[in-house]
Amino acid sequence: MDNKNNQWRKDFPILDQVVNDEQLVYLDNAATTQKPQQIIDDIMAFYQNDNANVHRGVHTLAERSTEQFEEARSKIQQFINAKHSDEIIYTKGTTDSLNIIARSYGEQNIQAGDEIVISYLEHHSNLIPWQQLALKKHATLKYIDLDEDGFVDLNDAKKKITDKTKIVSIAHVSNVLGVINPIKQLAKLAHQHGAVMVVDGAQSVPYMPVDVQDLDCDFLAFSGHKMLGPTGLGILYGKEDLLNSMPPVDYGGEMISFVHLFDTTWNDLPWKFEAGTPNIAGAIALGHAVDYLNSIGMDKILDYENQLVDYVLPKLQAIDDLIIYGPRDPQKHTSVISFNLKGLHPHDLATGLDMEGVAVRAGHHCAQPLMEYLGIKATARASFYFYNTKEDADTLVNSIVATKEFFQNGTI
Ligand code: PMP
Repeated sequence: MDNKNNQWRKDFPILDQVVNDEQLVYLDNAATTQKPQQIIDDIMAFYQNDNANVHRGVHTLAERSTEQFEEARSKIQQFINAKHSDEIIYTKGTTDSLNIIARSYGEQNIQAGDEIVISYLEHHSNLIPWQQLALKKHATLKYIDLDEDGFVDLNDAKKKITDKTKIVSIAHVSNVLGVINPIKQLAKLAHQHGAVMVVDGAQSVPYMPVDVQDLDCDFLAFSGHKMLGPTGLGILYGKEDLLNSMPPVDYGGEMISFVHLFDTTWNDLPWKFEAGTPNIAGAIALGHAVDYLNSIGMDKILDYENQLVDYVLPKLQAIDDLIIYGPRDPQKHTSVISFNLKGLHPHDLATGLDMEGVAVRAGHHCAQPLMEYLGIKATARASFYFYNTKEDADTLVNSIVATKEFFQNGTI
């Protein structure tokens, strides 16, 4: 598990660079992952050879780009085991996908007095759309408590989800606490009360096998850029009958069947939700990212990252004055690890780590209500992917210790 033995690392040219006179150690994968050379080449090849707008042309290039665009959709469908490819909607990202659900399904189905249930650990993208919907519709927004390890608490969920609940929306994997939430049980609970289950899969789909039929979720949102693809392209999965019953949110080209002067009929799924020229190269590249991930295997990726967590978490726990959030048990912790050094602002910690070449994130991680729940303002966060190694983990640990000494003694 050192850099030389990691067979995937060579595919990521960006990792092979020096920052601040040190070898780069990229541990900000929960924010966005790096892109393998194959995908960078594929994007360039698309623009060099095949670029044309999709669906609208009969010429050869238009057919080629449409074919690749729709082929990518089928790959993504299989990747999350959706029943139909028309259940896969191209969006701008997780945030966009969640907003579409709130503005379409939410606007249509939420009435005054209804309940929307989320949890204290949600990213703002899975909080504000529901908060604003609740305000607009005079509905009640409820928050499920977290247990002592930081998981969404099923016992509290049983109290918070009632027959008034219409929507339950929860992160599969927390981008702060590194927990995998019990989505299957939450979906069952939601369905027992006639509510739909929305899953924020931004941190789970890149990290582990996700099977929407097994989870029995009604909607799943995720982002291509967190799983080797380019920015600006995400996915909204929805069960076909639900998507069919929902109104489009954006109007324009592509999403219509017929436009008359005073009314319009909508296109079939998935195009009903894809107004305007989509991110064609991005979608095709996400299809290639799925091929790349499949060539390793999501089970293997999960297993590899679990081994990294087994290795690094105890080492971090052994550093005096380092507070680590989420479960203590490495078996329960994903490779997203948030921490604070006592007496030091996380921005100073992250700056100290950057001086050692280590890229981590610091801040509230778009989860201010969670920060408030934890009684803190911010944390530093290291997040690993399969191209990271034990060597990277050692550098992180050593750099935290060096930064701590620097701020205590003025030497680094
Ligand atoms: N939800 C979670 C759990 C996330 O980690 C993120 C990205 N930080 C998002 C939603 C938003 O993703 P995006 O910015 O790609 O829309």
